[in-house]
Amino acid sequence: MYHYHSGEIKNPGFELMLLVLRALIFVFIVVVAAGITIAAGLPAFVGGSLAGVFVFAFFIFRPFFEVINYSCPHCGNKIRTIKNYGSYRCSDCGGESRID
Ligand SMILES: [Zn+2]
Repeated sequence: MYHYHSGEIKNPGFELMLLVLRALIFVFIVVVAAGITIAAGLPAFVGGSLAGVFVFAFFIFRPFFEVINYSCPHCGNKIRTIKNYGSYRCSDCGGESRID
């Protein structure tokens, strides 16, 4: 039998970890942009533009780690979970749905 994890965030530390992860991705993007600029010997303003593009991309992909309130369509049970989690099995009624 295929096991569905509910994807529910019960631990506040996990939610905090997601926030830290997002912050780290942001820092990583800026560092990579700066690294590319230095490695390629490009003027600083190019790196700035590059960082801007990366940050813009980051905000587009931001929902991947976004924590949302989700209500089970079968019983209305509310949970905290990650957006785009995917297969969800309600811990209350056992109903299956998809979190987009
Ligand atoms: Zn339910």
